[in-house]
Amino acid sequence: PSPLGPTPKLVIDLERLAQLPKEKAGALARYAATIQSQRGDYNGKVLSIRQEDLRSLAVIYDKSPSELTEELISWGVLDPEARRAVESF
Ligand code: C2E
Ligand code: C2E
Ligand code: C2E
Repeated sequence: PSPLGPTPKLVIDLERLAQLPKEKAGALARYAATIQSQRGDYNGKVLSIRQEDLRSLAVIYDKSPSELTEELISWGVLDPEARRAVESF
């Protein structure tokens, strides 16, 4: 196992996401809302998403998964720890 511990989860900060302008974060906000609805998980401040979902979002944003991860970290939507989740792609 890695000395840094297990691969961290991709955890979206939903409160931060809601503060961002729609031009930037609209697609991600709709994606997260869809996952919340599929799970019936409406009350969270955060949402854990699948690694596969970050790949899909990267296609939507026309970026590589690591580029999108950097952008989401810069927005404050993902924790910097998320970099390690994407390294394993
Ligand atoms: P599904 O993929 O057939 O998963 C059925 C159930 O298996 C899920 O019900 C959940 O209880 C469990 N499950 C599947 N994968 C995981 C996992 O990685 N971690 C955990 N903790 N549980 C897992 P649930 O949550 O009610 O979701 C219903 C359906 O909604 C899922 O059916 C899937 O089609 C969709 N869904 C929910 N969350 C996500 C997501 O984060 N990404 C994607 N792509 N689809 C999701
Ligand atoms: P964790 O994964 O570190 O999550 C810590 C807390 O963040 C959770 O506390 C919950 O308040 C919030 N959280 C994380 N992801 C989500 C999300 O997708 N939706 C919502 N609504 N909240 C989220 P909680 O619920 O008391 O869970 C404590 C710990 O129990 C979790 O720590 C995890 O280790 C485990 N756990 C809870 N649910 C699941 C699950 O579906 N699958 C797995 N494998 N572990 C779970
Ligand atoms: P988690 O529940 O701790 O699951 C960690 C990893 O175990 C998942 O990473 C996935 O690779 C595997 N896994 C867990 N349950 C299942 C399952 O039922 N079927 C399959 N095929 N694999 C499973 P992944 O996919 O990157 O998901 C990361 C986290 O996102 C999960 O952590 C969970 O917190 C959340 N999540 C993903 N899908 C669902 C879902 O359908 N429903 C719910 N409630 N949470 C989900």
